[in-house]
Amino acid sequence: MLRLLEVRLPLDHDEHALRVAIARALRVPPSELRSYTIARRGYDARQPDRIMLVYTLDVTTGDDARLLARHRKDPHIVACPDTRYRPPVQASRPPRPRPVVVGLGPAGLFAGLLLAQMGLCPIILERGKPVRARTADTFALWRRKVLNPESNVQFGEGGAGTFSDGKLHSQISDPHHYGRKVLEEFVRAGAPPEILTISKPHIGTFRLVGVVERMRTTIEGLGGEVHFESRVVDIDRTGGVMRGLTLADGRTLEARHVILAIGHSARDTFAMLRDRGVFLEPKPFAIGLRIEHPQSLIDRCRFGRHAGHPLLGAADYKLAQRTSGGRPVYSFCMCPGGTVVAAASEPGRVVTNGMSQYSRNERNANSAIVVGVTPADFGNDDVLAGVAFQRHWEERAFALGGGTYEAPAQRLADFLAGRASHGPGDVIPSYQPGVRFGDLSEVLPDYAADALREALPVFAHKIAGFALSDAILTGVETRTSAPIRITRNDDHQSRNTRGLYPTGEGAGYAGGILSAAVDGIKAAEAVARSLSTRRQAG
Ligand code: FAD
Repeated sequence: MLRLLEVRLPLDHDEHALRVAIARALRVPPSELRSYTIARRGYDARQPDRIMLVYTLDVTTGDDARLLARHRKDPHIVACPDTRYRPPVQASRPPRPRPVVVGLGPAGLFAGLLLAQMGLCPIILERGKPVRARTADTFALWRRKVLNPESNVQFGEGGAGTFSDGKLHSQISDPHHYGRKVLEEFVRAGAPPEILTISKPHIGTFRLVGVVERMRTTIEGLGGEVHFESRVVDIDRTGGVMRGLTLADGRTLEARHVILAIGHSARDTFAMLRDRGVFLEPKPFAIGLRIEHPQSLIDRCRFGRHAGHPLLGAADYKLAQRTSGGRPVYSFCMCPGGTVVAAASEPGRVVTNGMSQYSRNERNANSAIVVGVTPADFGNDDVLAGVAFQRHWEERAFALGGGTYEAPAQRLADFLAGRASHGPGDVIPSYQPGVRFGDLSEVLPDYAADALREALPVFAHKIAGFALSDAILTGVETRTSAPIRITRNDDHQSRNTRGLYPTGEGAGYAGGILSAAVDGIKAAEAVARSLSTRRQAG
């Protein structure tokens, strides 16, 4: 089979046009084509009035080998890659002790699934609740201002991305096609099959809930165990080797292979790891505000007369700018047709993030606009100084919001002019449980507020209307990535603790659902290889 890359056709082309384009690219008559499938479909909207669909196509002809040889110098015509996943190990019986996965976000979910598929019967420990009970707790914050510190947007089955836009694209290099394995498992668990072919797939919150639940059932069916409300509070790493875990209720567990997939918000667990001597390093992340515009404005700007076209859906954007002082400012986790959500996991703190449903048909587009910060900004040398920094600004946001989990908000024009807002204009903020208008420069370091004031008008050159006076800013956005790295070696194990496999976003090795899930697969493979080497040696 051949793979054709970058086949470009106008947005409203008819079906026959694909066959013609393939034949033209291969320089054969259409009758020589036996079949084709769409491996990927994206679009190029750089010229809004001439939007092109961009295809990757898998094609079978009467003589693939001859055509491959004929086009060997054309980088757009290649042999179709084999993207099937092959587990490195298939165990006939579970090891003793069994491998343990801590955390059931995307990284832990895929690590657990892969271990289970390899016959290694993992034990999965998750501090939060099963996803349905967790949904009720999350809604309690959004509707009644009641925060459960163990069951919320960050903690519980499915991890941080469960109440999200469910964007499933990533820019990681993926020569082994792990990303394909992730998408196929999501589809097997009920995600829409189109995520396998469109270039920027997303699932949306409600579908993700069912998908996560079905994947857990699969793990259990393969002999894995999932324990909810099981927070790991201590580890035994005597001699620099993983020996066991202690849970908050006092239970202990022998554990020689531990995949630590705790996400970027497990601040208490980070402190425990530091205190137990696990090697950690501070790392840069970003802080900023969520911005909301009417989705129709973004659609018009990105898609011109094609706004609303069903193949395009709600428009997204990606913006980046370096300020005159050298600070990076960029959009983060853009959610088309979605809502801004309360994403706190600690009492007395306010954090924003964004989510949407599969349909992406809410009135507003939202995105974080964030400013890069580095350990030099955190104020001291403690490895967890970044956590203290995040907490400080989250507490300021809580106070400015009125101390009730409402978030502080401001009209964009007022933020740029340095004056407080007293209410919304045409854009109505979507954040639940509500906003209180004020001056958002109080919830950011001065350099970050200045950087935003410099960059936001520049973004209006890229998206006309981006600097809309009534656009709404809400804050504060602090959980852009982990403030630490749990540094690991090439074999995926902690730099100073054998048998500990720091994984996913909390370890500082992933950012987003897809990359965390891929990292989870790699962790499971590393554990499987280590266990099979041990077995052979034994
Ligand atoms: P997490 O998903 O954070 O999972 C870690 C898990 O570990 C949690 O369930 C936690 O309860 C558990 N845990 C922590 N400590 C312990 C402990 N001591 N003992 C036991 N369990 C523990 N990314 C995208 O790619 N697309 C999006 O559209 C998107 N939208 C988002 C929207 C929101 C509101 C949020 C908060 C995040 C969003 N993200 C999105 C980011 C994405 O969710 C994360 O990158 C991803 O979930 C990281 O996966 P992870 O498995 O590494 O960690």
